[in-house]
Amino acid sequence: MDAASVLDLFRSSGALHEGHFRLSSGLHSGAYLQSALVLQHPAHAERLGRALADLVRDARPTVVLSPALGGLIIGHEVGRALGVRAIFAERVDGILTLRRGFSLSAGDRVVVVEDVVTTGLSTRETIACAAAAGATVVAACAIVDRSGNGAGLTVPFHSLAQYVVESYQPDACPLCAAGEPIVKPGSRK
Ligand code: ZN
Repeated sequence: MDAASVLDLFRSSGALHEGHFRLSSGLHSGAYLQSALVLQHPAHAERLGRALADLVRDARPTVVLSPALGGLIIGHEVGRALGVRAIFAERVDGILTLRRGFSLSAGDRVVVVEDVVTTGLSTRETIACAAAAGATVVAACAIVDRSGNGAGLTVPFHSLAQYVVESYQPDACPLCAAGEPIVKPGSRK
């Protein structure tokens, strides 16, 4: 699946909006991604999962680990395509943790699967979670890489598409300067 087809799938699902947005951080941005809107369609999720699995199969992963909640559906699809377990980590007191009886062992080769990587923070935390359990992280991947540079991860990182969008302080926003009306993502337009 090439990057243009991936972004077209996001657009046609209403998961990628281009315009002028006020993000929850208070920053302004020219685009907004909500991967849940593409992944709500099982056929899309399966297709994206197969494409990501093709990027990491050579690393011979034995298990997929995703951060809840955003990585959960795509992680499950990658696990299905690879024929391996798909487990997830959840925040407990702010720390990504394996719960529900999920376990990793020293022999496990983990691929960390995300929907969208922006700063890479949750990806790094998920890698640390796997390492703390004694497993080896052999790769990480995401449907969309918003960092443009693999977010400085220390393991091989793959994505189906890169999509870098600047965000701006409200008083330095060129879209505001151009008089573009602003909307809050998720609100009705
Ligand atoms: Zn603005």
